[in-house]
Amino acid sequence: MAKHTYQTEIGQLLHLMTHSLYSNKEIFVRELVSNASDALDKFNYFHLTDEKFKNEEWSGNVFITLDKDDNSITIGDNGIGMNQEDLMAHIGTIAKSGTKSFVENLTGDAKKDSNLIGQFGVGFYSVFMVASSVEVITKKAGEEQAYKFTSDGSGEFDITPVTKESHGTVIYIKLKDDEKEFVSPWRIKEIVKKYSNHIAYPITLNFKEEESVGDGDDKKTQIVGKSEQINVAKALWSINKSQLTKEDYLEFYSGISHSDSEPLAYLHNRAEGANEYTTLFYIPSVAPADIYRAEWESGVKLYVKRVFITDSDKELLPAYLRFVKGVIDSSDLPLNVSRELLQENRILANIKQGSTKRILQAINKLDVEDSDKFTEQYNRLIKEGIYTDHVNKELLLDIVRYKSSSENGMISLESYLSRGNSEKKEIYYIIAQNEKIAKSSPLLEAYKKANIEVLIMDDMEVDEIVTPMIGAYKEWNFKDISTIESPSSKSEDEQKVINEEMKPFTDKLKDTLGDAIKEVKISSRLTDSPACVIKDSSDPMASMAHIFRQMGQEVPDAPLILEVNPDSDMIKKLQNTTDKDMFDDIAWVLLDSAKIAEGIEIEEKSEFAKRVARIASRTM
Ligand code: ADP
Repeated sequence: MAKHTYQTEIGQLLHLMTHSLYSNKEIFVRELVSNASDALDKFNYFHLTDEKFKNEEWSGNVFITLDKDDNSITIGDNGIGMNQEDLMAHIGTIAKSGTKSFVENLTGDAKKDSNLIGQFGVGFYSVFMVASSVEVITKKAGEEQAYKFTSDGSGEFDITPVTKESHGTVIYIKLKDDEKEFVSPWRIKEIVKKYSNHIAYPITLNFKEEESVGDGDDKKTQIVGKSEQINVAKALWSINKSQLTKEDYLEFYSGISHSDSEPLAYLHNRAEGANEYTTLFYIPSVAPADIYRAEWESGVKLYVKRVFITDSDKELLPAYLRFVKGVIDSSDLPLNVSRELLQENRILANIKQGSTKRILQAINKLDVEDSDKFTEQYNRLIKEGIYTDHVNKELLLDIVRYKSSSENGMISLESYLSRGNSEKKEIYYIIAQNEKIAKSSPLLEAYKKANIEVLIMDDMEVDEIVTPMIGAYKEWNFKDISTIESPSSKSEDEQKVINEEMKPFTDKLKDTLGDAIKEVKISSRLTDSPACVIKDSSDPMASMAHIFRQMGQEVPDAPLILEVNPDSDMIKKLQNTTDKDMFDDIAWVLLDSAKIAEGIEIEEKSEFAKRVARIASRTM
């Protein structure tokens, strides 16, 4: 017998399973049945395509056996099975980063946390919520040797060679003393109906029941063995829409999403014509935990005429829709389609295109409440879509939401247009590190005064890259307010006179500040603040900044223009001062404060502090 010690993380996980996650123990049935169904899917494929297995008489089956006296439940399948390496890799250790991320994502809320179990590929371990010990007896299809894995959920497990006639896996679960509910046929039927009704294979429940026989005085009770199919066993997506209820769709979702929460939407379509295929997609109400990780997993499974092909093809939908869960079943692809060639397959490309449109249209049709939930979870991915999917740009722009300088919450571009100047057709926006900085930016002052709405973009990393390439929405042009002239209350002539009058002052400021700025201008955009800095839109460096940031490089300082407010009391006083030292200090503080207001890092922080102190002490 070979004894093994679990990796530390699995030890941790098991401890959690046995001690913390007990609010929803029934899900162990869902997880083991789902694994059995996957194993049947995998064998089904070989059975149909591989010479070695073609002649085997086989039909996929999951069985569950309950034993009251023994207080045990056994869940088995005649699927692909596992060999020793598989057991080590999938059950003994966790090759995927699943466990670690699972542990990191725990919230402490047992109900939420138990929903995470299936998502992180640690489903098997949920059995230890109810088991005092577990035996996995398994034989891989096409191999001779079978193996038995035993564990009591503490630090160690054993793997021993055993004999088993046919391929597949049998999991014997010795229940803890206080988990007797799981030997009740009624309870198991209820759980299977809830989570696994629509797996594509029959689930047979074997149990013993007391039955009365005879009449009158002869009446006796005797124990009889029963065997019942307890699920529908038909791939849900292959059933006609008109025969399905919302309930059916939600049950199926709970099985594939490993969660109890309702999706925001589901869409079930059958396409006929040049390509025949069925799709069933769900939009989860909570984003899968891995969507911002590089190694995210696909939520969509590909079938060909109900035969499972793959669940790891990330190209079935565009990457920005990686939160979608569901099934694509094609009638046109050959069964033995090479998985490597899937990417270049024309049929799949068509399915992808049609599916993407339908999913986006469904998102666009969500009611206000669900649409808000969607935005909260997925707005960032929609922006990713705007950047990458030019075909569906308009639809994506209908869906994306932004904050606004004049409205609460997140608004659509459509609603921005409804309030905007329909002659000028411009969409104004400001990008900043956070909402607070954006909303208090001096650049906004003139827009506020003129009652012009500005979109607040506070997801800087993404917005900086995506927004400049949007161009226009319904012929309205996007304008970054830090790079354009702002609305002015003064006429051009008035502005000219002021510029002339103040030229000696702006020259003097430029002399003092030297290379720290590119230019000093008289501003028309400020009402309260004495000064602001804007980017020089004519400088190629300004538009390159995001590219550098994307490559993880230091961003070269974009040249800044200092704009001063001619109506500001402080600027007027500064203009008249004859104290050179004072002028210098104030000029620098003016520039640094303007940078701070835009969230731009100032280099010489201690110099700034010294200057402020000097100014303060001189004026007190
Ligand atoms: P997940 O199913 O999300 O990958 P699990 O912890 O539930 O995570 O299972 C881990 C792996 O163990 C599975 O991916 C599969 O490779 C293997 N496995 C589990 N149960 C079975 C089974 N009944 N038959 C064959 N392989 C199985």
